[in-house]
Amino acid sequence: MARKFFVGGNFKCNGSLASIKTIVDGLNQADLPSDVDVVIAPPAPYLHWAKEHITGNVAIAAQNIYDKESGAYTGEISVSQIKDVGATWVILGHSERRTLLSESDEFVASKTKFALDNGVSVILCIGESKEEREAGKTLEVCNRELDAVVAVVKDWSNIVIAYEPIWAIGTGLASTPEDAQETHKGIREHLAKVLSPEQSEAIRILYGGSVNGKNATSFKDCPDIDGFLVGGASLKPEFVDIIKSRS
Ligand code: PGA
Repeated sequence: MARKFFVGGNFKCNGSLASIKTIVDGLNQADLPSDVDVVIAPPAPYLHWAKEHITGNVAIAAQNIYDKESGAYTGEISVSQIKDVGATWVILGHSERRTLLSESDEFVASKTKFALDNGVSVILCIGESKEEREAGKTLEVCNRELDAVVAVVKDWSNIVIAYEPIWAIGTGLASTPEDAQETHKGIREHLAKVLSPEQSEAIRILYGGSVNGKNATSFKDCPDIDGFLVGGASLKPEFVDIIKSRS
């Protein structure tokens, strides 16, 4: 089955109105291929501006939501608010939130369900630490993080998985295509068991971790890698090269 290539740009806590304008202008001027789903995730204060100014077929993602509707939750952002300003996606389970902000598998799962129930698609991030990889626990960790979501979400058609080994994020040390492919294949096999072979075959699994304009093409022949979630390089003009890396 052909899965549509997907490239997400996770700006993280970076940028200003001026720098995000530069990125949006760059994307507006680029001739982006129509057979790629492109999603950018600016910091929350810029979501509305980005939505208003992006002209092409580029969707907007928030980098987080809370698993409750509006109310007395100081500092949180509700799913209806991100929808109100034009976001159709949200990144959940990023390792920076799991580690720095102690988000549990169950909390990530609860937010995933809440987003989907409210019509927002989810980029669900999973991945192991260096220690876990060295202990041979890569798939055990990924499967545990997935299973928490499987426990509460049965229809995964609006989820894209981002496999992001923590040791590869922001380090310049991307996984080899062979290692990433092996993990992606393992994730897909696991999902076939716990969801269904059909859902597993249809779901897109992105690789994330030090993807750049140069190494993106090296993942081209990996049958289970359906795109990328890009951090640092999504802030630079080379993001367009990554989007075009399958063309
Ligand atoms: P990176 O980040 O591309 O800067 O390694 C990826 C991510 O954390 O999504």
